[in-house]
Amino acid sequence: MNSTHFRYFQPTELIFGAGTVDRAGEAVAKYGSRCLIVSGPERHAFVDIYRRVKASLDAHGVAYEHFDGVMPNPTTDCVTEGAALARTFGADVVLGVGGGSSMDVAKAIAVEAVHDGSAWDYLFFRDTQPTERTLPIVTITTTSGTGSQVTQVAVISNASESTKSALYHELLYPRTSIVDPELVESAPTHVTATTGFDIFCHAFESYIHVGNAPYTDLMALEAMRLVAAYLPRAVQDGRDKEARERLAWADTLAGLCIANTGVTLPHGIAMTIGGQCPTVAHAEALAFVYPQVVAFTYASAIERFAAMARILDPALEDVADEAAAERSPIVIETFLKAIGLWTNLAEHGVTEADLSLIADHSRVLPDYKNNPRIAERDDIHRMLLDAFRRTPSNATGA
Ligand code: NAD
Repeated sequence: MNSTHFRYFQPTELIFGAGTVDRAGEAVAKYGSRCLIVSGPERHAFVDIYRRVKASLDAHGVAYEHFDGVMPNPTTDCVTEGAALARTFGADVVLGVGGGSSMDVAKAIAVEAVHDGSAWDYLFFRDTQPTERTLPIVTITTTSGTGSQVTQVAVISNASESTKSALYHELLYPRTSIVDPELVESAPTHVTATTGFDIFCHAFESYIHVGNAPYTDLMALEAMRLVAAYLPRAVQDGRDKEARERLAWADTLAGLCIANTGVTLPHGIAMTIGGQCPTVAHAEALAFVYPQVVAFTYASAIERFAAMARILDPALEDVADEAAAERSPIVIETFLKAIGLWTNLAEHGVTEADLSLIADHSRVLPDYKNNPRIAERDDIHRMLLDAFRRTPSNATGA
């Protein structure tokens, strides 16, 4: 533990449990009577979810318009389209229904619809920040991964700049979030694996963060344990209700960790990959760099890497910290293989030459400063090259 000084803040009302999607109307009606629903397209898995949300809004006298144009790695253009609809409709509350992409677009629309310029003008590092005019946000998550239902973050991409960045403001905390684990049951295997690994990354990175705090440590350890125990089960059988419920809880805990402590180097690199290569899912990018970042960092936080290694591999329980931490890159590799996430960016058409550009931009976001070991640009380039060239026998790189 670095310090007993910390601030913990969480203003989101949480409604958790199977069937709670039917409380959407009750949740939204507390904040407004004209709701913009923000989601991805009405594909098969979502038909029933949207029907239940709308029925619940109807039952509570909430008028709505549905913006269903959200795609993974959502862009500023998508936000602008949704914000225009919010203004035309006169929305006084925004409801994000979907994974992190839909929840984040809902948050960005809540800003853009009522401020000058675009949401991109309100990124976390700009002088101009969202004001109290920001529309109230309600979310209903359909993935277990991003924790966006309890964070003040909205991640968006700007295609013209090939950049992925974030709005970060307390006004972006959803007022109410519904976490109904049954909604996640339709998530395909690959989405389950990627989003589930994102939970793990949020928890672990907040745990090794240089500003870690006792409150988030508790939640991080529990979230990592839950992912280790239940993600392989959910990948095996998406209808495993117990696994889905435990992962929905782990997702929420890990979201609370990032909202209050934050993430580190892997997220900085993964965000850059997402900006440069929009077809790569957020957690695919994380899975790509994780073994290398773990190998690079473990010696700088032996106890914490040992704890993580023991969670993923209970056979290390009686092994000394140093030896357990040393095993952490291989333990991560084994876990990624077990959940079918032993990915390589080459599968997305990325070339070795692209890695240099990714390395150039990986330290634009400040996350790398929170890593127990600071990586220079060339360290990151080396990690990316190692990951790119990996085969099962040299998977953790030099
Ligand atoms: P996503 O929202 O992009 O969804 C991924 C795919 O899964 C989509 O095709 C979607 O339609 C589908 N899907 C979602 N739920 C489904 C379901 N129940 N059944 C069937 N299909 C389903 O994925 P995500 O991982 O949840 O979100 C990723 C985004 O969130 C990234 O842009 C990432 O950077 C961002 N993010 C945000 C935060 C935050 O705090 N705001 C934190 C981490 C990541």
